[in-house]
Amino acid sequence: MILRNTIAGQLVLLLLIYGRHTLLSSAKTVANEQMSLALPEPRAYLPDAQNLDFVYHDHEELTRFLRATSARYPNLTALYSIGKSIQGRDLWVMVVSSSPYEHMVGKPDVKYVGNIHGNEPVGREMLLHLIQYFVSSYNTDQYVKWLLDNTRIHILPTMNPDGYAVSKEGTCDGGQGRYNARGFDLNRNFPDYFKQNNKRGQPETDAVKDWISKIQFVLSGSLHGGALVASYPYDNTPNSRICRSSALCAMFQTYSAAPSLTPDDDVFKHLSLVYARNHAKMSRGVACKSATPAFENGITNGAAWYPLTGGMQDFNYVWYGCMEITLEISCCKFPPAYELKKYWEDNQLSLIKFLAEAHRGVQGFVFDPAGMPIERASIKIKGRDVGFQTTKYGEFWRILLPGYYKAEVFAEGYAPREVEFVIVEQHPTLLNVTLQASKRIEGVGAGGPSYYRPMQQVPQHYRPGAPPYAAAASTDNGIFSTISNGLNSLYSNIFG
Ligand SMILES: [Zn+2]
Repeated sequence: MILRNTIAGQLVLLLLIYGRHTLLSSAKTVANEQMSLALPEPRAYLPDAQNLDFVYHDHEELTRFLRATSARYPNLTALYSIGKSIQGRDLWVMVVSSSPYEHMVGKPDVKYVGNIHGNEPVGREMLLHLIQYFVSSYNTDQYVKWLLDNTRIHILPTMNPDGYAVSKEGTCDGGQGRYNARGFDLNRNFPDYFKQNNKRGQPETDAVKDWISKIQFVLSGSLHGGALVASYPYDNTPNSRICRSSALCAMFQTYSAAPSLTPDDDVFKHLSLVYARNHAKMSRGVACKSATPAFENGITNGAAWYPLTGGMQDFNYVWYGCMEITLEISCCKFPPAYELKKYWEDNQLSLIKFLAEAHRGVQGFVFDPAGMPIERASIKIKGRDVGFQTTKYGEFWRILLPGYYKAEVFAEGYAPREVEFVIVEQHPTLLNVTLQASKRIEGVGAGGPSYYRPMQQVPQHYRPGAPPYAAAASTDNGIFSTISNGLNSLYSNIFG
C-alpha cells in the first residue's frame, strides 16, 4: 500500500473510499433524519392499475414487472438476483433508493423478504406494491423521498417461487406449496443458535445466507400469512433441550408458551409495535379464528407462540446482528385476489414506518489513528451480548431506544475501547470511534510487524462459528423428536 505512506496518499485513498460521501455527509444524514419527525405522514397510494394491478402475479409476470420498473426508474431502482430456486427461478431482489447501484456510506441497508412459505403470497404482492409505491411517490411525497434518500431498501418479493407455483388461490390453511420443490420448509432451514439443525441446506436458504453475509443489513421483515401478528426473536428456546428424551415432555415444552427473550427485547418489542400500531387491525389483537390465539397489542415473542428450530429471524439476529421480525399479515394464507387491495390499505403505512426505524439509535464509524476506516471491528452494546461488525467503510448501526449506553469496540491489532453515549428520541446519535494500535511486541515474528492481538477479550458471541450445541451429541433424530417435530409442523401448517 504505497498510498498509505504519505499524507497526500492517505487523502487520495480517503477520497477514493468515500467518493462524494465525505464525513460531512454523515452530519447531513443526521440532519436529514431529524427531519423525519417533522415530515408529514406518507400519503396513501392511489394505485395505477396500468403498472401493477391487485391480482396475484406468477413468476413470469413478477419478473416482467421488476424488469419494467428497473428500466423505467433507473435512478431509483436496481434489480439483481441472489441465486436460483431448485426449479431454476431467479430469486430477484429489487433495491429501491436514491442511490440504487452503490451503498451510500453512512446510510443503512434494510430488507424485506416475502413468500418464504410458497403458499403465503400476500406479502409477495404487498412487496410488489411497495416497490410501485416508492417509485411513483418519490417526487411527490416528502416522507418517501426522505426514506429513499437516506436508506437502501432491498426487497426480495419471493424466496420460494417454486412453492408458490404449486399453491392454490383461496386455500386458507394447509401445507401445499409451503415447502420448496424438495419438500423443505425454508423457515426451518437456517443454522440455529440453540439446537443443531440437521436439515440439509437448500439453494434458496444458501442464497439468502450468502446475501446477508455480504450486506450488513440493519433491519429486516419477513412476511408470512396464516395469522395477524408481529413476532420477534427468539423463535427457538434453550429450554426445549432439557427434556427431549420424553415425548410427553417434548410436547409440553413445545406448547408451554414460554417466551425466549433476546438481550434486545425492548428494541424487538418496539419494532413489532411500530408495525402493529401502524397496521389497520393488527394491534387490536383479535384472534383470526376462535381456535387460534389472540395476541396482546398484535405482537408476540416467537417461542412464546411456538418454538421452532432453523428459523430465519434468529439467524439474522444472532449471526449478523440484523434486527429481523416475522410479520404475519393475513389470517388466510392465500386469500382471493379481490382482497389484495384491502391488504395493501391495511399494511401500507406499517411497511413504510417499520423501515424508517433503521434511523433510530446509534450509527457511526470506527477509524484507525490515521483516520482510515477499520473493517470488521466488533461492537457490543454492554448488556446486549449479540454483537455486530463494521462494514468495509468502517460503518456501524444499532437500533436502540432512548437511554444511556456503553459500547465495547474491538478489532484485531487495536486496543479495545469502551465508549459511552446517549440515545435520544429525536434523532440518531452519531458516534465515531478511533482505535489505537495495540502495543507492538518487539522481537516477535520475522520481518513484518507483530501486534498484540487481544483475542481473549473478543467475546465469542459474534458470528458464532461454534454454536453452543456443537459439542453436544445430537439426540434429535429419535422417535420422540420425530413425534414432536411432526406436531410442530402440523401446528405451523395451521398458523403461518
Ligand atoms: Zn409462514
